[in-house]
Amino acid sequence: MQNKRKKVLLLHTGGTFGMRVESDSQEVKPTTAGYLGELLAHVPELTSIAELDLQILCNLDSSDMRSEQWRVLAESICGRWNEFDGFVIIHGTDTMAYTSSALSFFMSNLTKPVVLTGSQRPLSVLRSDARANIIDAVELATLDIPEVCICFDSEVHRGTRVTKFSSEHMQAFRSYNSPEIGNFGVHFHLSRDIAKPLVANRVAPILDCRAVDNIIALDCIPGQTISNEVIESIVSSVRGVVIRGFGSGNLPINKSSWIALCQRALECRIPVVMATQCGAGMVSLNAYENGRVFVDLGVISGSDMSFESLTVKLMVMLGRGVAFEQRHQFFAEPMSMECVSGSSNE
Ligand code: ASP
Repeated sequence: MQNKRKKVLLLHTGGTFGMRVESDSQEVKPTTAGYLGELLAHVPELTSIAELDLQILCNLDSSDMRSEQWRVLAESICGRWNEFDGFVIIHGTDTMAYTSSALSFFMSNLTKPVVLTGSQRPLSVLRSDARANIIDAVELATLDIPEVCICFDSEVHRGTRVTKFSSEHMQAFRSYNSPEIGNFGVHFHLSRDIAKPLVANRVAPILDCRAVDNIIALDCIPGQTISNEVIESIVSSVRGVVIRGFGSGNLPINKSSWIALCQRALECRIPVVMATQCGAGMVSLNAYENGRVFVDLGVISGSDMSFESLTVKLMVMLGRGVAFEQRHQFFAEPMSMECVSGSSNE
């Protein structure tokens, strides 16, 4: 008996992948709706992997994606969940890891793959990585992997663990604090550590798209002072603060305006999360006095989360109206394998 042919929905959101290069200049222009269909017709192998349908949701540089587009994307996937075996999202690389984090948090109990891909060079140009990326992504979407992942340059990354690390290399993404979940070599290798659906017989994922946009992320640099006016303007205009401290989450404590900022924000019941400027390794606020001071103030540890999933988790926490007192617990419990469990303020 012949196996039933798998059906995959391609959802286009924009990015370099579908752009066309003007012949008289090297400027890349956004594609039109029909143009992407034509381009996909130039990757005929795709139709031998799966039966495809294409839906164009938007055509944005991914720098312009925000929680509203994440919601539309998640609802579009859930709305057509039963028609397809897997979903491939064509997305700009710049904020792909934020969108993959958001979709991982928005849709729980997946039973099918949701794969994001894109490219460093448009599909229509020489030496484009788009062709290989879309072939791998569609193939991945036919497999039994109930996760949101990013498929790029032969690697498969967990949606909540991945970071864009290069604007130049074809290998644009890395998962620093967690192994890749698979890779395409001569054969496809899949790690054994993939998600298992919690309720295997659910027909559709549970959808909760609430998230707010108005949080701020601040980077610490040596010797920096933050005036009271700036502190007041921050606390009067944002709902959450992320600080990228040094190393394991340390900030100046000697004549430090960071203490004043955290105190003032927490007084106003604005949650503050500590991230790190290091690409890899975890936030351990109890390791040094320069971290412990902030534990005592009530700052949340970003643990081993990627910066992208940490910021999106804060947006989700605020969007869901989680009580201020519950903030440490909310961050310590993994929602979608974004952190080691029980890690807040370790
Ligand atoms: N600026 C583009 C985007 O993120 C870059 C890309 O797709 O690689 O939409």
